[in-house]
Amino acid sequence: MTTFAELGLSPKILAAVDAAGYTTPTPIQAGAIPHALERKDVLGIAQTGTGKTASFVLPMLHLLEKGRARARMPRTLILEPTRELAAQVEENFVKYGVNHRINVALLIGGVSFDEQERKLERGADVLIATPGRLLDHFERGKLLLTGVEILVIDEADRMLDMGFIPDIERICKLIPFTRQTLFFSATMPAEITKLTEQFLHSPARVEVAKASTTAKTVTQRLVKSAKKPWDKRAVLRDLINAEGDELKNAIVFCNRKMDVSELFRSLVKHGFDAGALHGDMDQRARMTMLSNFKDGNLRILVASDVAARGLDIPDVSHVFNYDIPIHAEDYVHRIGRTGRAGRSGKAFSIITPSDTKHLDAIEKMIGEKIEWLDGDLSTLPAQEETEDTSRRGGRNSRGKNGKKPRDGKDHKEKQTQPRNAEEKTADAPVVTDISAIDAPQPVLPDNVSLGTVVAQEPVRPVPHKNGNDERRQNHTQNGQQNNNKRHRRDFDDEPSPLGFGDDVPAFMLIPINI
Ligand code: AMP
Repeated sequence: MTTFAELGLSPKILAAVDAAGYTTPTPIQAGAIPHALERKDVLGIAQTGTGKTASFVLPMLHLLEKGRARARMPRTLILEPTRELAAQVEENFVKYGVNHRINVALLIGGVSFDEQERKLERGADVLIATPGRLLDHFERGKLLLTGVEILVIDEADRMLDMGFIPDIERICKLIPFTRQTLFFSATMPAEITKLTEQFLHSPARVEVAKASTTAKTVTQRLVKSAKKPWDKRAVLRDLINAEGDELKNAIVFCNRKMDVSELFRSLVKHGFDAGALHGDMDQRARMTMLSNFKDGNLRILVASDVAARGLDIPDVSHVFNYDIPIHAEDYVHRIGRTGRAGRSGKAFSIITPSDTKHLDAIEKMIGEKIEWLDGDLSTLPAQEETEDTSRRGGRNSRGKNGKKPRDGKDHKEKQTQPRNAEEKTADAPVVTDISAIDAPQPVLPDNVSLGTVVAQEPVRPVPHKNGNDERRQNHTQNGQQNNNKRHRRDFDDEPSPLGFGDDVPAFMLIPINI
């Protein structure tokens, strides 16, 4: 078995690895590090959780031991698809770089430019960036990429999903041809292969465990539910309660940001210790939420797929798919949050009658049938069409003709909700939002601290026009809008907006007085 010392890393790095408690390199580390140290391009096909971050951070530290950073001219650049991943890579530099004096600058959206500019001005050895924010700095003239010796493109398939590939192509052309490129992707769709052919020079290819395999330590179960959200929420609550103390901490995945917010508020209302994480929350709230969850201060994290890939949250006991993922490989990424490093974990997926197509695709990909917890969909009781009225505590919210009155409570509640995060003050809890969900229990439990949790959750955020990577305009090289790809905003972490999505025209929000 290879040891870290055999990989050719410097004594300072070996000491840091030792201090981190790692004794043996993982396969991606053993495969990629020697090539990276020889200054070769590397194509690493590895998913998150394989130790791939260290497989580029360690050789970068080694090569950075010589030379010094210059103002506005970073020596190395790491591109990450999400802010969380970028922040996590920074943490890796802190961990493995304890014996080095290197300047790391994190360029991510959602936080102010000033601090980032100051770091660039001081000179950065390592720049960790999301593509949009990096280009924003470049366009402001605060950054020169001609000094970059090593370029890392991480989670390339995720970049593709999020519409970042035109930006990556543009960035690659701004960096000297003579650079070394370390390229990582969990899967290799045709677009990614094309990109590697274009930007890598005779790369060493290192491939480890495929994304289509699920850990044997994870118990997977399917749980039937009717399609209506309140049915699904009730199924989820029952599942969580049934797990009792076995459930140490859990991630609940939704397909859409909107549902993350709604489900989170519902769980809080029902007395669960829950938080939310999705792409429209401001950066500070996202980081706070994540660190609360990591530190064990939060038991349940409701998340969109932004949290599914790459987040290093060790020891999650449970994963719940509130929505079955649309892309089969996301299933593997999601349940990969539990059962890590040989520990046992449980993954429950709520399945409604309209989910069978996606479920079939997942079972085909993982090559196994997932067991049902308590009978399959054929055992689901027939649903009444008017179930929403009965669920809402028997309150007759419909008029004689069966239509909802235009000035009914639902309508009013909708108007009193803040339309976006900016309309809320930082510490103003959105109590109306919570009571609007799952109407049968309008009273909030005493142990719920709305002021802290709810205030961090934007309801309908207004898109930022600038400075937000997930919302930046998608331009081709000559500045034209790239119509071949969907707009990057659509790709943040939801498959597609419903109705007007976040772009409800103002006239639709004018109160109607009858
Ligand atoms: P990554 O795939 O980079 O997100 O790493 C997944 C997890 O593996 C992180 O918690 C790392 O700290 C950990 N890790 C990285 N390298 C090693 C190693 N050689 N031995 C054990 N754990 C490691």
